[in-house]
Amino acid sequence: MSQQEDQLKKVISHAKEYGFIFPSSEIYDGLSATYDYGQNGAALKRNIKDYWWKAMVQLNENIVGIDAAIFMHPTTWKASGHMDAFNDPMIDNKDSKKRYRADVLVEDYAAKIEGKIEKEVAKAEKRFGADFDKEMYLKTNPRVVRYQEEIDAALTRLNTSLTNNDLADVKQLIEDLGIADPVSGSKNWTEVRQFNLMFGTKLGSTADNATDLYLRPETAQGIFVNFLNVQRSGRMKIPFGIAQIGKAFRNEIVARQFIFRMREFEQMEMQYFVAPGTEMEFYEQWKEQRMKWHLNLGLGEDNYRFHDHEKLAHYANAAADIEFKFPFGFKELEGIHSRTDFDLSQHQEHSGKKLQYFDAERQERYVPYVVETSIGLDRMFLAVFSNALKEEQLEDGSERTVLKLPPALAPNKAAILPLVKKDGLPALAQKIIDDLKFDFDVEYDEKDSIGKRYRRHDAIGTPFCITVDHDSLDDDSITIRERDTMEQRRVKISEIKGIMEKEVSMTALLKKL
Ligand code: ATP
Repeated sequence: MSQQEDQLKKVISHAKEYGFIFPSSEIYDGLSATYDYGQNGAALKRNIKDYWWKAMVQLNENIVGIDAAIFMHPTTWKASGHMDAFNDPMIDNKDSKKRYRADVLVEDYAAKIEGKIEKEVAKAEKRFGADFDKEMYLKTNPRVVRYQEEIDAALTRLNTSLTNNDLADVKQLIEDLGIADPVSGSKNWTEVRQFNLMFGTKLGSTADNATDLYLRPETAQGIFVNFLNVQRSGRMKIPFGIAQIGKAFRNEIVARQFIFRMREFEQMEMQYFVAPGTEMEFYEQWKEQRMKWHLNLGLGEDNYRFHDHEKLAHYANAAADIEFKFPFGFKELEGIHSRTDFDLSQHQEHSGKKLQYFDAERQERYVPYVVETSIGLDRMFLAVFSNALKEEQLEDGSERTVLKLPPALAPNKAAILPLVKKDGLPALAQKIIDDLKFDFDVEYDEKDSIGKRYRRHDAIGTPFCITVDHDSLDDDSITIRERDTMEQRRVKISEIKGIMEKEVSMTALLKKL
């Protein structure tokens, strides 16, 4: 098993063992690519949502939040282009009967070559030491240059054929590159076909008068159709944003890599309405803002990179992804798109209702342009969780598994541990909890030895363990142990709250933005 697969396996089993994520309906052997968040997972997820929502809505006076329905009038999807164009190219292997996304097969092929380049770079780095000039090497080393040309040729041809909807050429490309089924090694492929990703359902009690509905494949359209409602009722002035967190559904051809690609998932989206002609300025601004939001969590700058799109979606005039280094490599975590006036104009045309804004400064009426930021909550969860999971060798030779979550996102901020279950220690522990619980998620734990309890809370990422011992009864002090350093210090009970506000609160995290 590769190191990457091994790391992902560890993430999945840790998530299950410690109550973060369970396979859905597991007692019936589960449902593919569908997961349930357990007690700790739901808390971590809620904290990620809070961090996003507060950074967007609470800290920006000109951004408001809504909560639109999952069902929408079916014409919405005609207008948005999803009915006609929300497709993925699919291909089957005739021998293994496995189904793949044709574009992903080509992208994986390119990623493999990129892996070869990385290996060459690592080797050269070792050889040349401090003198190594990576950029120069990438430009001049014949082998690396050839690899890069192979990647560019494959991806350019893929983009061209997809843009022209030339599915026969996508298949030809797969054959020309000699791509084999990763499972069986067979190269016996079917034709490439388009597959619409929307989940359909019916509204109505009888088959005759039922209406076709779709589960929304993105939350954005709920914002577009409410653009005027929000603008008027909130007396919003351009530029302004509408934010939303909610479920989205996509009938993904291949859903794998745990919660990275699911069929039911959650999005956190913000549509920023701007005057035509100013969109590029705001696009750059939001790229920067969103990266700042990520970096503020401290998961490591090297784990992020921008990827500017060459092939733009039908609605965009600029688009970039923020990619994160997941256990299986750099992949899209968030998208920032300049969507022009495509969506509002389409809805205007299909509904016959004007979706315009009167700009008092410009003294003109126009359909606003939109810059959107769109991030998958579950992907963000996977980024945070997989980055946090560490196995550490301790000085005494033992090992510990610790989840080094950003403290403000941890399911519990502190565990309150009476050293023993008697002598009034549980009562004092409870008193401390009663004082903290209105501001912080804290947990009481009296089971097992103190060492075992420390390990358990390390494994679920609790930043502080607070131990109440016999001395606490006399000196009103406790021992506070820090998760990452394992350092212990003695502090007054009255000081705990202040420490927590400074080091583990959402407010402290937001203030750093
Ligand atoms: P991908 O190329 O990975 O399919 P996308 O470009 O189709 O993603 P968008 O339509 O831009 O994704 O959606 C915005 C965000 O929603 C993505 O950046 C991702 O974080 C999240 N997302 C999209 N599809 C899924 C999915 N099937 N499961 C989980 N999250 C998803």
